[in-house]
Amino acid sequence: MAAPSADEDSKVRLSGPAAEASDSKSTEATTSSQALPERMVPKLSLTFTCTVPNCGERSTHQFSRQAYEKGIVLVQCPGCKNRHLIADHLGWFKESTKDGKLRTIEDLMKAKGEKVKRGTLGAEGDIEFVE
Ligand SMILES: [Zn+2]
Repeated sequence: MAAPSADEDSKVRLSGPAAEASDSKSTEATTSSQALPERMVPKLSLTFTCTVPNCGERSTHQFSRQAYEKGIVLVQCPGCKNRHLIADHLGWFKESTKDGKLRTIEDLMKAKGEKVKRGTLGAEGDIEFVE
């Protein structure tokens, strides 16, 4: 019968100083701080130049692609603190969107006769407008 003796052997090892060292609780730290961010939401990055006179601040903003395509996006200019409508698909700003006909900043700027340069709106979600 070799099995009982092997079992006793392992018991002796477990009660040794090495076993105490490995008994320290190292699992708590890894389980507490892993709240995953919404990594499934594609982000758009918009760089625009403020249209307010005497401002002209250039700033970059990030928002979700879903908001730009289906919701409402407002960004605040860091220079003059004015809010700029980037997208409105819900009809909240009918005065700015011609009763919902112009729903994104691309439409709005084209309607004003301003040149719109669009960078990329690809898989990476980058988008850029330059006046
Ligand atoms: Zn501004």
